[in-house]
Amino acid sequence: MVKVTVWNEYFHEKTHAKVQEVYPNGIHNAIADFLRCEDIAVRTATLDDDECGLTPEVLADTDVLIWWGHLKHHLVPDEIAWRVHDEVLKGMGLIVLHSGHHSKPFRFLMGTSCNLSWRNDGDWERLWTVNPAHPIAQGVGRYFDLAHEETYGEPFRVPEPDEVVFIGTYEGTEVMRSGCTYHRENGKIFYFQPGHETNPTFYDTNVQTIIRNAVYWAKPVIHAEKLECPQVKKIEKVIQE
Ligand code: ZN
Repeated sequence: MVKVTVWNEYFHEKTHAKVQEVYPNGIHNAIADFLRCEDIAVRTATLDDDECGLTPEVLADTDVLIWWGHLKHHLVPDEIAWRVHDEVLKGMGLIVLHSGHHSKPFRFLMGTSCNLSWRNDGDWERLWTVNPAHPIAQGVGRYFDLAHEETYGEPFRVPEPDEVVFIGTYEGTEVMRSGCTYHRENGKIFYFQPGHETNPTFYDTNVQTIIRNAVYWAKPVIHAEKLECPQVKKIEKVIQE
């Protein structure tokens, strides 16, 4: 059983009619709905919850945290962002979606601005699978299309990814490293670019397959209780034959 927490700032869905129409129960619940199954237990958390719903107890009990945020990154207290950062180092998986590229936990883990070029003109997007043997790409074809997605283009100011799994291109010919993986200490991180709030991206079966695959890929091998830098004793004994 993989324990997933889906975090959403949950703002646009309450204030913008168009977003409300696409995600009436919030993006977090749309994601939770397709993930929930015999093998995946899902809880949700939002900005309005106490401690953003990300108490030490919740994080310790989370195998993979999924993050969607856009306009309210600054309202996530630094203390909680660092708490997420440390939990990833301990082993918790992190999947950062779309405008979560500017979230505090992602920027803290990357150590760069995570800036990119963007415009929102309703372009189609074509996502190319560039690493077909990667676990996150299983069940996805050579490419797939989204009818409308916000254009996020290079340069994407992140450290060199450990792996690029998908590259996106748009009507306007921009390109984007749309699916990137990172390892930070015990933790695995997947950044996935599609998911603008006015588009029904999270109902797309390829997108759902990718996020589900990413959950299984990012689940911890080791989830340490704490980060340690122990002083150790010299081992005196050498066993000789
Ligand atoms: Zn967007």
